[in-house]
Order: sequence, then structure tokens, then C-alpha cells
Amino acid sequence: MQYLPVCFRLKDAPVVLVGGGTVGTRKARLLLRAGANLTVVAPEISDELEGLLAEHGGIWQRAEYTETDLHHKRLVVAATPNRAVNEQIHADATALNLPVNVVDSPDLCTFIFPSIVDRDPLIIAISSSGRSPVLARQLRRKIEAMVPGAYGALAEFAGRYRDRVKQAIPEETPRRLFWEQVMEGTVAEQVMGGRESRAEELLEEQLANTEAHYVGEVYLIGAGPGDPDLMTFKAARLLQTADVVLYDRLVSEPILEMARRDAERIYVGKRRDDHAVPQNEINQLLVDLAKEGKRVVRLKGGDPFVFGRGGEEIELLAQHQVPFQVVPGITAGNGAACYSGIPLTHRDHAQSVRFATGHLRDGSINLDWEQFQSETETLVFYMGLVGLPVICEQLVVHGRRADTPIALIERATTKEQRVLTGTLSTIVEIVEREKPRAPTLIIVGSVVLLHDDLAWFGGR
Ligand code: SAH
Repeated sequence: MQYLPVCFRLKDAPVVLVGGGTVGTRKARLLLRAGANLTVVAPEISDELEGLLAEHGGIWQRAEYTETDLHHKRLVVAATPNRAVNEQIHADATALNLPVNVVDSPDLCTFIFPSIVDRDPLIIAISSSGRSPVLARQLRRKIEAMVPGAYGALAEFAGRYRDRVKQAIPEETPRRLFWEQVMEGTVAEQVMGGRESRAEELLEEQLANTEAHYVGEVYLIGAGPGDPDLMTFKAARLLQTADVVLYDRLVSEPILEMARRDAERIYVGKRRDDHAVPQNEINQLLVDLAKEGKRVVRLKGGDPFVFGRGGEEIELLAQHQVPFQVVPGITAGNGAACYSGIPLTHRDHAQSVRFATGHLRDGSINLDWEQFQSETETLVFYMGLVGLPVICEQLVVHGRRADTPIALIERATTKEQRVLTGTLSTIVEIVEREKPRAPTLIIVGSVVLLHDDLAWFGGR
């Protein structure tokens, strides 16, 4: 992060703006809206700026810039057309330890103006760290469309009740749950519909009855195979409500970052043959946390019900009558296939597809190999890297041709994705040479031949 977004309180603060052209006028409007006590230093200023200053009681100092203009100021903005003057202002402000913004010169700024969505008192600031103001503005337009205008009223309302609710519910977690419920429910609807007194009545009723709001819940969420964009809307939304997030190795950092910053994170990951937290402890933990009244998210790579032991985790929840929801995710087999240009079915190649585990235990894989013979069925193996030689051998022993195409997709859908292709007789050697890193997924069948033509990752 190159800039820390903070909100500056400028009410009655002495601020100096050097330059009064079009850009300066735009900045002045913002500074005045925030209540700054503004002085504009410039030999000439726009008519609009003159009007703004008259309206808000700002001062126009009709002169060229000198260093003394910065004295006793809280913030400096330079908007002159002259680079040398701008540089001088930057140098003077820096010497005085004053925050300075020089318009259109990110290198001379110690702070920058983000694009803002203004739903006063609610403010959303968007910054591209000076790289692409156009992109930031585009994003702002999207957010403008998404955030109802009445959110400002809602924030105002919440602000008025903040202390009252704090007294009524001193503990932090239940208080947040209470507010979340208020913001998502009928109270908010009433405020946004302009019926504040009804909203106040409802809020008081709910405050009198807070015990009812302490119920925890567990969301078992499929986080997809790696690319955060492959999460569902529901997964992202519920993740943002979590008080605590239990995750394992397959869940990438950008996905975890979608959780609230103060949400507790618990790693319960497993590596092959090294169970960090035994499954029954994870199951119990979910129950315990929910009973503490928390919203618990259990994030799983891919889909929770595809080789994810999701069924076991919710069994105990059901027994303890803890409310839960299961949110499906894109399983690695689907993600890897799409991102490597290998359709799992294709009219000319495969009419069915089978997902199997290639987990090796005591040197063998517990599968009914007789069922894996069909040339027109695509096979997808999860957890098959270590057992790859056994998979290839067993498929050939049970009737698959040795030249059947096979692909091994390493870290599918992430930036590190790599696809290794070969045949049942060559792939083991290729993998030994290339040493792919987990997680990897294996696809077997003639659909793999399509990869060369359909891959859009530039031949990976
Ligand atoms: N529930 C998960 C599977 C968990 S089993 C799902 O639906 O995807 C773990 C196996 O999934 C790994 O051994 C690997 O075979 C596969 N896998 C998960 N993420 C993967 C990825 N990004 N790339 C390749 N394989 C992946």
C-alpha cells in the first residue's frame, strides 16, 4: 500500500490554495465543502472561485506566492500552471512538515485527493495511488450507482443512536450483530423511506429485546479453486459478515482479505499426511464458536462437497442444532478445465466425466479401476500428484491405451498456473523433470488434445 487513506477533519482549519484556475477552483469547492477556512493565493482567479469564496467566507490574497503564505496553515494545495513554483511550494511545505498536494504531480504530493462518493456523512474514497484517475473515476461511477442516496440518512441515524446502543449492549460482538441486523432490516428500510419516527420506535423495540439477536450461524463456503473472482456473490457477501474465519491451505490470501479486517482468522489446514487440526476438532470448533454467538465462516477450497469433507463438518452442526448454510463453489476440476482450455465433455471426444480421488495410501489407490475403461469418458483426479505413476499404470492395466492424452494442471486458475501434457506412458517422466508444485489436478482423455488449440494462456 503506497498511501494510507485517512479522513481529514478540515472544519475551520486554515488551508491555503495557491492558484485559482479551473483545477484550483475544483479543489477549492471540495475544501470549502469540508468546512475549511480557505485562503487562495493567486494574482488572478476564476469568477466561479470568487463567487465560492464570497459565499463561504474564504479569502482571496491577490498576489504571487511567497513562503510566508504557508505559515500557520494545516494543509497546502498547489494548483499553479508553473512547475517551478509548484516545486518551490512542495519544498517549502515539506520543510514545514505540512501535508501538500500539487495537482497532477504525484511526485510532489505527500497526500492525494481520492475520487469520492459523497453520501454525507458517509464517504467512500477511491484512489489508484495516482496511477490512473480515470480508472478510479470509473469505479466511482459504479459505486455511485450501487449505493443508495439514502445511505447518508442511514449513517446519520446510526450516529444519533450510537451511544444509546453502546449503553444498552456494552459487549462488542453482540453490539455489532445488533447493528448489522438493524442495517439489513426494517429499521433501515424505514429510515431510507424517510419515516424516521417509525424507525426509532422499531429500534427501541429491538433494543428492549436484544437477547433474541445473539444466535450464531455457520457458513460452509466454497471459495473456488484460487482466482478470487471465481467466488460466488453469496460467498463474498457472507464472508464479509464473518466474526471468525476458519480456512485451510487451499484458500488464497486475496480471498481471505475479503473478510472484515477485525475478523479472527483460524488456520486449520492440512498438508498431505500431516493433519494440522484433526477433522473432529474442526467440527467441534465450528459448533463451539457458533454457540458463542459468532458468525462463523468455514472457507474451503473449491466446492465444500467435492472431496472437501463438508458433509462431516455439518453433521455435528445439525446434531447440535446450530443453523448453517452451505455455499457451493467452483470445484478445481471445473476451474482447471476452463482455465486450461480442456473441455471436460465434447461431442467428438467425451460424453461423460468422472471425478475421482487419486490419494495414495500404502502404495495404492482405493478405486474400482474396472470402471475407468471407457475411451469416451474424461477422468479427473484430485490429490493425484504423488500417486500419478499408480494412476497411469492402473489405467493401462485396465485397458486404457498407453497413448491416451493426460494433462496435469498446477495451481489452476492462479497466476502461477502451468499445464503439463503428455500421455499415460510419458507423463510421469515429464512431471519428474518439471517438478510441479501442489495443488495439481489431473485430466485424462482425448479432450486434453484440445488444449493446444483452446488454451488462452499463451501455450502454458
Ligand atoms: N474441495 C476441493 C478439493 C479438495 S481436495 C475442490 O472442490 O476443488 C484437494 C485437491 O484439489 C488437491 O490435491 C488438488 O488435486 C485439487 N485442487 C484444489 N485446488 C486446485 C488448484 N487451484 N489447482 C489444481 N488442483 C487443485
